[in-house]
Amino acid sequence: MARVYNFSAGPAVLPEAVLQKAADEMLDYKGTGMSVMEMSHRLKAFDAIIKDAEALLRELMNIPDNYHVLFLQGGASTQFSAIPLNLMVNNKADYVNTGAWSKKAISEAKRYGRVNVVASSEEKTFTYIPKLKKADFSADADYFYIVTNNTIYGTLYHELPDTGNVPLVADMSSNILSQEYDVTKFGLIFAGAQKNIGPAGVTIVIVRDDLVGKAKDTTPTMLDYKIHVEAKSLYNTPPCYSVYIAKLVFEWVKQQGGVKALHDLNKEKAALIYDLLDNSDFFKGTAEKDSRSIMNVPFVSPNPDLDAKFISEATENGLVTLKGHRSVGGMRASIYNAMPLAGVKKLVEFMKKFEVKNS
Ligand SMILES: *Cc1c(COP(=O)(O)O)cnc(C)c1O
Repeated sequence: MARVYNFSAGPAVLPEAVLQKAADEMLDYKGTGMSVMEMSHRLKAFDAIIKDAEALLRELMNIPDNYHVLFLQGGASTQFSAIPLNLMVNNKADYVNTGAWSKKAISEAKRYGRVNVVASSEEKTFTYIPKLKKADFSADADYFYIVTNNTIYGTLYHELPDTGNVPLVADMSSNILSQEYDVTKFGLIFAGAQKNIGPAGVTIVIVRDDLVGKAKDTTPTMLDYKIHVEAKSLYNTPPCYSVYIAKLVFEWVKQQGGVKALHDLNKEKAALIYDLLDNSDFFKGTAEKDSRSIMNVPFVSPNPDLDAKFISEATENGLVTLKGHRSVGGMRASIYNAMPLAGVKKLVEFMKKFEVKNS
C-alpha cells in the first residue's frame, strides 16, 4: 500500500489511524452486525455515536453549556443563508471581506438585510487581513461576520475583533480545532467538516442559546436552528457516516494531546515551509507575513511554467494536490491537523532540491 502525502485544501487528508479504525469497523460496528452506513439513525448505536461526537467536541473546544452543538447538512455554504435568516432580527449585519468565502456569504446576506462591509482586502487579492477600526463597526448590528482562516488566500486572523455586545459569527471551516479559541467570544461558529474534521457531508454549528428561536417567518424549516436544537440534530436523517468519522477524528485529536498540542505542531509545520519561502530567491509566499495561515500556505515559483513543472514532479514523488486555487494560481500546501510532520518535511526537502535544479 502506498499512501501519498495529500495537500488538498478539501476534502482533505484524514488521520491514518482513523481510516484504519473505520476500516476495522466497516462490516460489523461493535457487534451490531452492520456498518454505520447501514444503520438507522434512530438506533441506540447511532445515538451513542452522535452523543459521543458532541461530548468530545465540547471537551476539545471547551464549549460552555449555553451553546448548542449541531450536526447539519448542506455544507458550510448553506450557513451563508441560515445565518442571516436566523440572526438578522433587525436586518443589519457587519461583514469583513477577506476572500472568496466571505464574498459568497456577503452576497447571500444581502438578500435578507443591509450588509455593512466593514473592511476588505480585495484590492490586494486578499493577501492580508485588514486592520479593523472599531469606529467602522455598527453598534446596532445583529452580528459581525468573519472568516477566521481564508483557505484560498492563506490568511488567518491573528487577533479577533472586539465587537462588544454584537455577536461575533465565524466561518471556521478551514481552521476549527487547529488552534484554541475562546468560544465565549463568539455568538456562532460554523465549519464544514471536510478540512479539519472528517468527510464532506456534515457541517458543525456551535450557536449561543440566546441567538436561537428568532428566525424569520420565511425561514425554511431545515434552516431554522431551533428545529435542529429541539431535535438534537435528528430532525431528519443526519449524515450518519460523516458524523461517525467526525467522532473518530475528535477521539484522535484528544489522543494527540488536544487542540493546544496540535496547535504547537501546526505552528512547527507551517514554520518549516515559511522559513524556506522567506529564505528562497526562487519560491515566494503570497500572503503578507503578519496575516499568514498555519493551515493553507500558497506560494509561487518564478513563473507559471515552473509552477506546472513543480506540481507534476511533486506528484511523481508522492506529494499530491499542491496546485493552487484556480483564482490564485501557483501552489498551495494545505497542512491541516491530519498532515503529519513527516509530510511537511518531505515537501520542504523536495522544494529545496527543485530550487537548486531549476535556478
Ligand atoms: C471550504 C470552505 C467553505 C465551503 O464549504 P462547503 O462545505 O463546500 O460549502 C466555506 N468557507 C470556508 C472558509 C471554506 O474553507
